[in-house]
Amino acid sequence: MNPLEVIGRKRDGHEHSTDEIRFLLDGYVRGDIADYQMAAWLMAVCIRGMTAEETLALTQAMVASGEVLDLSAIPGVKVDKHSTGGVGDKVTLIAGPLAAACGVKVPKLSGRALAHTGGTLDKLESVPGLTVELEPERFIKQVREIGLAVGAQSPRMVPADKLLYALRDVTATVPSIPLIASSVMSKKIAAGADAIVLDVKFGRGAFMPDVASAEVLAKEMVTLGEGARRHTVALVTAMDNPLGRSVGNALEVQEALDALSGEGDEELLEVCVRVTREMCDLAGVKADVEKVLRSGAGREKFEQMLAAQGGHLERGLPVSPVQKTITAESDGHVESVDALEVGLSAIELGAGRIRKEDKVDPAAGFVIAAQVGGKVRKGDPLVVVHARSEDLIDRVATRVRNAWRIVDRDVKRPPHVLARVDKNGVSRAD
Ligand code: URA
Repeated sequence: MNPLEVIGRKRDGHEHSTDEIRFLLDGYVRGDIADYQMAAWLMAVCIRGMTAEETLALTQAMVASGEVLDLSAIPGVKVDKHSTGGVGDKVTLIAGPLAAACGVKVPKLSGRALAHTGGTLDKLESVPGLTVELEPERFIKQVREIGLAVGAQSPRMVPADKLLYALRDVTATVPSIPLIASSVMSKKIAAGADAIVLDVKFGRGAFMPDVASAEVLAKEMVTLGEGARRHTVALVTAMDNPLGRSVGNALEVQEALDALSGEGDEELLEVCVRVTREMCDLAGVKADVEKVLRSGAGREKFEQMLAAQGGHLERGLPVSPVQKTITAESDGHVESVDALEVGLSAIELGAGRIRKEDKVDPAAGFVIAAQVGGKVRKGDPLVVVHARSEDLIDRVATRVRNAWRIVDRDVKRPPHVLARVDKNGVSRAD
């Protein structure tokens, strides 16, 4: 087989055999197939798509590209959680500790920022001293001892995804159902948990444009999970507007700490509680999640986890040297905040990456003052921009201001959790 021939077959809309997929993936991981060849194939997949059989073969080849974590040393049902990515999505930082505080064992391997969406690892690394590089023994010990660990997948696990993820991030080849489904599920399967809760996002700030495509992705991932004997449930949630009140690494860690103290944005808390309930159900744990949230036990668990991973919250989270408020230019009600524009502006500020090797600025980002449904008068703050220079803020200011759509009538916040998908099918919220 030769790579040009295999890439050309996808370009021309043919279905790959399992052998062709293995050939490409193994060759790429070994270094025999170059980045530019893989990028061409990824773009062909984005445009041509893949059948369910190809997606399964890709997922299996990705799992087989590395080690599978053996979590049998952790007693009980282990539950993992994953989001397909959004702007301001700090659900893992809240639902993970909350579920652990309810008694669920949560071994969680996370990713870095991808395209305009944030990454849990980048967020956690904004805590001084914290490491996400947890060797399997340390990771397992931490979950046994405190019920929760959030780490980077080791380079030995799903190496194919590690390479592809970084390549897709910089070649505009992220938004593809088979590529997302295989990327997420290969990691979830290799991470070894018994059950998985997926948060599948759609809308301006997500990779899926609408609820229908998010449902297709959710079904595909649930099928892949159940096929690998992992109980899998997906919630389909809206990502037209940034989630919660902040976007940016340290800013989101702070928001998670606040939310775990009960001072969270309503929509953010709603999705965190829903995700946590699903995690408890899959683990067979009976808990009153809202009561646990109010008790502060989730925050304690989060702090315990940060400390166990070497984090020193007492040293303070990084703060940007420049902060500037962007204000409303007219009176009205906030109809929407374009999550994509905010996410892209966050990259521009340095909160995400443009090139694979870029370092993120942990302090950069946005604190949202005017949420969807809120009323503003001309001159009221819409958002505070945090950056390392005035110049950077000036570069994004117009784009950020234009992300706020102000209208002349009352606006109700739209529903956030739209559907739930499990092996029995889709149930839609009323
Ligand atoms: N999250 C992942 O892990 N992979 C994707 O492709 C998209 C979101």
